[in-house]
Amino acid sequence: MVGGGPSGLIAAINAAGNGVEVLLLEKTASLGNKLLLSGKTRCNITNAEPLENFLLAYGDNGKWLRNAFARFFRDDLIDFFAQNGVICKQERGGRIFPASDAARDVLFALQKELKATGVEVVTDCAVKKIITKGGVATGVVTSRGEFPASAVILATGGASYPQTGSSGDGFKMARAVGHTIVTPMPALVPLVVQEVELAKAMQGVSLKNVRLFAFACKSEAIVTDWLLAATNTKKYPQGNYLIGSEFGELLFTHFGLGGPIVLSLSLAINKALSATPAVSVAIDLKPALSLKQLEARIQRDCDAYGKRTTAGILAGLLPSKMVAPFVSLLDIPADKRACDINAVMRGRMATALKSLRFNITRSLPLSRAIVTAGGVSLAEVNPQTMESLTVKRLFFCGEVIDIAGDTGGYNLQAAFSTGFQAGKSANHLICRVQER
Ligand SMILES: Cc1cc2nc3c(=O)[nH]c(=O)nc-3n(C[C@H](O)[C@H](O)[C@H](O)COP(=O)(O)OP(=O)(O)OC[C@H]3O[C@@H](n4cnc5c(N)ncnc54)[C@H](O)[C@@H]3O)c2cc1C
Repeated sequence: MVGGGPSGLIAAINAAGNGVEVLLLEKTASLGNKLLLSGKTRCNITNAEPLENFLLAYGDNGKWLRNAFARFFRDDLIDFFAQNGVICKQERGGRIFPASDAARDVLFALQKELKATGVEVVTDCAVKKIITKGGVATGVVTSRGEFPASAVILATGGASYPQTGSSGDGFKMARAVGHTIVTPMPALVPLVVQEVELAKAMQGVSLKNVRLFAFACKSEAIVTDWLLAATNTKKYPQGNYLIGSEFGELLFTHFGLGGPIVLSLSLAINKALSATPAVSVAIDLKPALSLKQLEARIQRDCDAYGKRTTAGILAGLLPSKMVAPFVSLLDIPADKRACDINAVMRGRMATALKSLRFNITRSLPLSRAIVTAGGVSLAEVNPQTMESLTVKRLFFCGEVIDIAGDTGGYNLQAAFSTGFQAGKSANHLICRVQER
């Protein structure tokens, strides 16, 4: 067993038993380093979404997980933790956390079960290479020498947050034994904008209930007619210039944009950035109102508070820190009195509120991403057993595989489900070999 993250821990637990001895090799000094950081240390282990929606959270690759989820899914995971003393609770967006809000309780439960199943753990042991003979995995070479094995499970994670131990070693080892590695890419990652000064001026402002649109073009080329007319996402055209849209919470940072809806769109944006010359976003700050309704609202405010300034009118529509930077975009003097704001200016204000635009230059690097997209190609792993289709008795689980989910507990559920499947399959395989 290579790697002591959530997928490796549950794989080791399930590989043990029926006389099978399991050795877990972990590169760092401790187990579950990333797990302890997860969910801002509260550990969002899974989500309450029904299966079909759940699979959609992994994009096109989601259907590959159907087998793993059929064997070990959310309720099995919640039961597993309940049996080990960790009761779970559900929060907004179906997110499921330990009731104690403590990721360390999740890790303790896994470690307890690891001990109960007799798994031997060696930390500070970096695996360097998978040994194969005639297309069969027979052991590993490590920083502490060679270890022969009847089967090898690779659970080394992705390449993000390398300080936790996941630094892409598994990709190199899998490639060395003949696997295709889908190019690793940052997923669930903040975005850097060209208009850095504007973002910086609004740094720290968190907006709830806004809609973010991403386009494969420069911001000035965004066609806004439909965007401004529609309040219903179903009306949005699926033209090739619209990359995607998300509704929810967004955060301005000193370099650009963060927050859940930005993270959710980031992988699609990163893919577009590698394929098209320009990517931009538009933030609809008032998605509940149509352009007309918003113009009427501004007019009402101007009529009611004629002595207020442009900035004063906008203060009723925006968080205070956004007002000055926003006014600078409008080409209307900040001190212009509301009674002097004409229809053209009102239209400009409403349009800007419905489509605050930024050009995206890049995302933060892979090391800063919550998840690594890409990894061991799904075409080369048996989805029913997690065994390699290239090297016999080699299994994969967790983020090392080409699976990346949305925020909301999807990545940990994938790690636990594929880990369970890999562990059980390795156990069955070894038992069969020992019987012969
Ligand atoms: C800040 C942050 C917050 C997150 N929050 C959530 C959340 O709330 N919910 C959610 O679903 N997902 C979350 N994720 C994602 C989730 O944590 C990962 O998808 C998950 O940990 C992947 O599990 P894994 O076991 O595949 O890999 P990892 O957890 O990365 O574990 C891999 C292990 O393998 C070890 N290893 C690597 N190379 C070697 C080697 N050569 N030899 C031996 N050992 C090696 C590493 O040291 C590490 O211990 C978060 C991620 C981050 C970074």
